[in-house]
Amino acid sequence: MINEYKIYAIKYAGPLTSSGSTIMWNKDWEKVANRNYYIWCIMGCGETIIVDTGVAPPLAKKLKLTGYINPVEILSRIDVKANEVQRVILSHLHFDHSNGACLFPNAIFYIQEEEYRFWLKDRMASRPPFKSYLDEVSKTYLRSLDGTDRLSLLKGDQPVIPGVECLLAAGHSIANQAVAVNTNKGTAILGSDCAHFFRNYQEDWPSIFIIDLVEWMKTYDKLRAKVSSIDLLFPGHDPIMTDAYPKIAEGITRLV
Ligand SMILES: [Zn+2]
Repeated sequence: MINEYKIYAIKYAGPLTSSGSTIMWNKDWEKVANRNYYIWCIMGCGETIIVDTGVAPPLAKKLKLTGYINPVEILSRIDVKANEVQRVILSHLHFDHSNGACLFPNAIFYIQEEEYRFWLKDRMASRPPFKSYLDEVSKTYLRSLDGTDRLSLLKGDQPVIPGVECLLAAGHSIANQAVAVNTNKGTAILGSDCAHFFRNYQEDWPSIFIIDLVEWMKTYDKLRAKVSSIDLLFPGHDPIMTDAYPKIAEGITRLV
């Protein structure tokens, strides 16, 4: 029998309001949409894996992030001590997912090699369309992990522990990764920003910041083929993850 895990969504900021076209690429210009910022926690079989780190307090203050609470504080509500977390999967290196890496000082970080290389080593990443997506502070922190045993650079689909697998899922970034998790309902997938909202998967339409539209749509095919049922495919920023799932503690809901 394969290990089974529970999955929690941890809302660390929001709601943030923007044009509907943020959620539905090149549509819904006249609408507004609220989105939340999340990290996720996979728990079971004596393991705790964090997916994405959110934003650390200094950047949250600088950006004046609405509804911000330090992810470390929220995790403590389910008895997870950030400084004891052993494994963190980063879906991609946009600031809202990776700035808080420093909040997990003892963890191994699992990142796609191509993603790490692009944001930290490719000059293209310092051009204006990319520049604001990864701040200098987290760049410096992630760079300091280079060559240490706290950085695990993945090449494509790779298991992290039995029942938890990283899946290369490009489109939104150079080498996004989604996380397939074995649960009591079958295979669930934390897709992070492979889609901002459930709607994107349902309507077969991407959200914003597209690096490669063809890869994005291929990612949809790949994730749909892998997940046990479409309701177990979770997006990156949908308020539904807070509003429509059982509340475990303030800011924390159980997805599966
Ligand atoms: Zn995001």
